[in-house]
Amino acid sequence: MVSVPVKMDDGRVKVFSGYRVQHNQMLGPFKGGIRYHHLVDLSEVAALASLMTFKNSLLNLPLGGAKGGVQVDPNKLSKAELENLTRRFTSEIAPFIGPDRDIPAPDVGTDSQTMAWMLDTYSLESGFSQTGVVTGKPVEIGGSLGREAATGLGVIYATEKALEKIGKRISDATIAVQGFGKVGMYASIEGYAKGAKVVAVSDVSGALYDPKGINIAELSRYVRERKMIKDFPEVQHISNEELLYLDVDVLAPCALEGVIHAGNAKNVKAKVIVEGANGPTTREADEVLASKGCVVVPDILANGGGVVVSYFEWVQDISWLFWSEDEVRSKLREVIYKAFDKVWQFADTHKVHMRSAAMASSLLRLERAMKLRGQAW
Ligand code: NAD
Repeated sequence: MVSVPVKMDDGRVKVFSGYRVQHNQMLGPFKGGIRYHHLVDLSEVAALASLMTFKNSLLNLPLGGAKGGVQVDPNKLSKAELENLTRRFTSEIAPFIGPDRDIPAPDVGTDSQTMAWMLDTYSLESGFSQTGVVTGKPVEIGGSLGREAATGLGVIYATEKALEKIGKRISDATIAVQGFGKVGMYASIEGYAKGAKVVAVSDVSGALYDPKGINIAELSRYVRERKMIKDFPEVQHISNEELLYLDVDVLAPCALEGVIHAGNAKNVKAKVIVEGANGPTTREADEVLASKGCVVVPDILANGGGVVVSYFEWVQDISWLFWSEDEVRSKLREVIYKAFDKVWQFADTHKVHMRSAAMASSLLRLERAMKLRGQAW
């Protein structure tokens, strides 16, 4: 836990609380995002750090789990104040991070600019450029091609595999996507590019529906200009709730947690749910969905594309050799497909849901590592 004094624009000094939790490094250096949010506290950061351990283990990455954050509402700070905060926070945690030790990345409330400031501050203190200290950087200073779309693309790779299990191809499938932000927009773009009919999407301003499929290329251009999907022409406008109950092959909740719960799970008609967001389906809903034969691809697997390409970025930085976007995409596909097969097989063998199978196979890999290192028996 660190104190982060920041000189504000009005000349006053304000002190913020910052955190970095390193949970487990049995598989490799710590890795996990930095969150700027007014509700960040030690227990939240610790919980998120442990989730990173499980996610990295499941995806077969040579990385441990960590998370960090500052208790601040970034929307209330000017750009100069945010830069001061980021630089001071980086200096405070500098003894604990590093390309061989712990590699932060963006999370809620932080972005590639935040990572650029972190990289610069850490490098100034080291005396040379250390591009591998953070991932999610702008491409110009060591970021990876394909990082922006990675989580959404991973959602679509997981969708392809899940559809295969129910005997469908993505090019014949209908998809509804909740959320049109970093995850949902790229999942829609990638699904549309593979020939799926994206029949519905939503954001905080409402939901759009077209049974013939929405033109996602047009919609993405529209949203880049106007920020929201509201008023997009020539489609039906439905409620956010209605989107969840559409009769589609795939529902990809890519916005908020807890949106499919005991109260509404029985109304969900999708054959496959691919969790782009973290925790969109509650435990009670899992039971209802399983009893209907709905396949739920859990968040830890479905939205792992971001951390996989973060790992690729780090590999490129420390080897000073940068890959083409095609290379990044095909390597990502390989990782997600393999992780999916591992989870599917575990679920089939042990007759459990994919969520339990994902957690169990992640823990088994960790257990093996701990035993080999003599830290468990
Ligand atoms: P984001 O802020 O870019 O996008 C969120 C989207 O959800 C926005 O379009 C917003 O309008 C929409 N939304 C908000 N409330 C809504 C509502 N009630 N109904 C429908 N849509 C609503 O965030 P993001 O980065 O896309 O993250 C979304 C989720 O995915 C979060 O749970 C996040 O933790 C998770 N996630 C993100 C990444 C990543 O790489 N960005 C990686 C793993 C997991």
